[in-house]
Amino acid sequence: MNVALIAHDKKKNDMINLTYAYQHILKEHKLFATGTTGQMIHDETGLDVIRFKSGPLGGDQQIGALVAANEIDLVVFLRDPLTAQPHEPDVSALLRLCDVHNIPLATNVASGEVLLRALGRGDLNWRKVVNPAYNKE
Ligand code: PGA
Repeated sequence: MNVALIAHDKKKNDMINLTYAYQHILKEHKLFATGTTGQMIHDETGLDVIRFKSGPLGGDQQIGALVAANEIDLVVFLRDPLTAQPHEPDVSALLRLCDVHNIPLATNVASGEVLLRALGRGDLNWRKVVNPAYNKE
């Protein structure tokens, strides 16, 4: 499964803790992240992460492009609801695209845990039917 991981600055520690706790599940999947989040996850957990640009520099939109193609199967986006973000339009666009394509999305640690456990159990395997990345020749 293709898993996208993004965390705003004040949520990065939460993301490290989450990915550390669930690395046994995440290591079986292909991970994508915005630049700083991906670097921190890799440094702290050793997980391989495909990194895009930093969020404010377009990383959210790069992940959004994969979401628009329906090629991301799960998004954990730990947003900071208490701090204004210069790239708020990009954030909203990414969340909107998840809803457009019915992609499982968690925006806080509690729901992130639920989705990662679901991923580990195989509850998201239906994504292999709808994600065109699995059906390419
Ligand atoms: P970052 O981007 O991982 O590069 O910090 C996250 C964001 O702010 O969208």
